Amino acid sequence: MEFPIFKTKVKGLDKKFNLINLEEQKEYFESKAGPEIKKLREFLKENTFIAYFLGKKNSGKGTYSKMLAQLIGPEKIKHFSIGDMIREVDEELADEQKKKELISFLEKNYRGSLNLKEIISALENRSTKTLLPTELILTLIKREIEKIGRKTLFLDGFPRDMGQIDFSLFFRDLIGYRNDRDIFVLIDIPEAIIDERIKWRRICPACKTSRNLKLLPTSKIDYDKDKKEFYLICDNPDCKNVRMVSKEGDEFGIEPIKARLKKDEELIQKAMSLYGIPKVLIRNSVPADIVQDYIDDYEITPEYIFEWNEKSQKVDIKEEPWMVLDDKGY
Ligand SMILES: [Zn+2]
Repeated sequence: MEFPIFKTKVKGLDKKFNLINLEEQKEYFESKAGPEIKKLREFLKENTFIAYFLGKKNSGKGTYSKMLAQLIGPEKIKHFSIGDMIREVDEELADEQKKKELISFLEKNYRGSLNLKEIISALENRSTKTLLPTELILTLIKREIEKIGRKTLFLDGFPRDMGQIDFSLFFRDLIGYRNDRDIFVLIDIPEAIIDERIKWRRICPACKTSRNLKLLPTSKIDYDKDKKEFYLICDNPDCKNVRMVSKEGDEFGIEPIKARLKKDEELIQKAMSLYGIPKVLIRNSVPADIVQDYIDDYEITPEYIFEWNEKSQKVDIKEEPWMVLDDKGY
């Protein structure tokens, strides 16, 4: 199934917004989708709903859901990432007292086919490749939701596999939000984009901020004459001009996660085919031949091209609209 192309070019709206600036980003959304945002805010005064964000790894699920929550009403919406939840559980396991509390919670609440010992060992000894049992994930989600209280939920990372998709259909019943509306938010993204995002990703060794040499550079860029490569300098004043580095393995791009991306694709297809649950479709890219009619120039992600200027001993920066081949090779 094709994701439809949505026109964001508005006749008579000629202002160019700088989308990296948070204030202008807000103004941008208000001027392009003002009435829809107003309706959503109105709805959220008395109601809550549940949105499942589904997209391939690194498709920007977290970014989209955080941006939307921030825009519509951060006090009404909770961005809930399963990945973050598991990382917090890892921290609890490393702390003697917190580990006891976690085990005691699971003793009271967990039900499933593995016994508690196996569950704890699954938590402690898993690799990034193994999935935790769905019954455990659901029990942990339940614990978090009790802490959050009744809010609109943007779920990021659930459902994660075919088994979990079945649970997601009844999730609102499971957590007691029986009359909540729920929707799938499906994100379409060419794998070439994910590939470039990984390959050019740069991380600050001090504050761990993640940027992208080609797509989202910092304000300071320098050139390493020996290695003949450009590099980013962290913008965080605390980091005192530290050079950002790439993570080991990132140079392979999507190669090591191919199997995972295929599974994610199947999951999106499955979600797409389900009846009775509404879907929101988000496209991350627009075919180059029609982009002029649909999208304003400033809405296209630029690609930054650097050149070393011998004369000035500085890096010259050029911006161009970013183009990639899509999954079919066009
Ligand atoms: Zn830093």
